[in-house]
Amino acid sequence: MVSGESILKIEDYLHQIGEEERSLFERIFRVFISEGGLEPPPSMVPWIEARFSSVDRVLRQKIIKIVNLITLEGALFNSLRSERPMETRSSEEVDNLIRAQEGDPFCRPLELTPSDVFGRIRGRHSITASNVAKYDGFHGLVIFDQHNPLIFSPEEVKDYIDTALEWAQKAHQADPEARYFFLMWNCLWKSGASIIHGHLQMTLTRGMHYPKVEALRRAALSYRERFGSNYFDDLYRIHEALGLGWEDDGVRYLVYLTPIKEKETLLLASELSNRLKGAVYKVLRAFIDRMGVKSFNVAFYLPPLASTQEDWEGFPCLVRIVDRGDPSNRTSDFGAMELYAASVISDDPFLVAKYLKETLTKV
Ligand SMILES: [Zn+2]
Repeated sequence: MVSGESILKIEDYLHQIGEEERSLFERIFRVFISEGGLEPPPSMVPWIEARFSSVDRVLRQKIIKIVNLITLEGALFNSLRSERPMETRSSEEVDNLIRAQEGDPFCRPLELTPSDVFGRIRGRHSITASNVAKYDGFHGLVIFDQHNPLIFSPEEVKDYIDTALEWAQKAHQADPEARYFFLMWNCLWKSGASIIHGHLQMTLTRGMHYPKVEALRRAALSYRERFGSNYFDDLYRIHEALGLGWEDDGVRYLVYLTPIKEKETLLLASELSNRLKGAVYKVLRAFIDRMGVKSFNVAFYLPPLASTQEDWEGFPCLVRIVDRGDPSNRTSDFGAMELYAASVISDDPFLVAKYLKETLTKV
């Protein structure tokens, strides 16, 4: 296994891994390296030196483009961005904003949120509500008893997910045609959350799974038809060989080579077990406590609740966790590049993997 610390050296690392892993890598990924250059006027030099420590680093910049050939996800890593140390963000401003919202409608869900047509599910640390303006026919919330969305224990995270799963079963009973469950956690405004109070959101949809989940199912299916092996197993093997993936307690962790945005980590397991729920907790705590993350998204890609015409064989429970950047920064982390071309990434996956591994052994 490679013990690398920089995505800029990915080509060197690929020479250090086994022949089989390298050919799997070449099957799934392609790496393109380019160099950008510029000529600053002398008047800009002090500013460049102050910001990037040396002019030379700015004059020639290495850019690594990685494309997942199976899913057509892509990421661009720039040496100037990725060599920055992992930021630790000051939290006082955000903490104050969280506190200022205490007493919001989610602090009194029974009075200030509607219930679903099938009622509410009461968890040990949470309660469900029906979302007022719905994404889909079934759209609910798991509202945490705890107001502050950055404070949670392993028991609480497990309870939130279990409560959401129970909601999904109730909704499915109410409409057996609704089989496709999508569970998400948006934390703080940068992630799209409109309410600060901690909550999950979940939908149950009919006909087919949401297009991004369905696209992944189709990609994995054609991969199996073409190469005769499971896409997710091969994806894991590559990440493991590079030191970006490891398995613990039946859960596979991958710091993804083509992340949608900063620090994207994938968790894979054959079922939505307590161990997988525990892994979600651990990664989030490592993000928050070790890497200064405040705002994040978590998405659960799960096979349907009941049998369907299409083939879900070999599709795991996949949890995707991503950092959405500093909530005190007004600039969005998603621009036209991310929406329409490829994701521009600052945080080095090798550093994220290093920090995650260090922290997870202690959690
Ligand atoms: Zn609240």
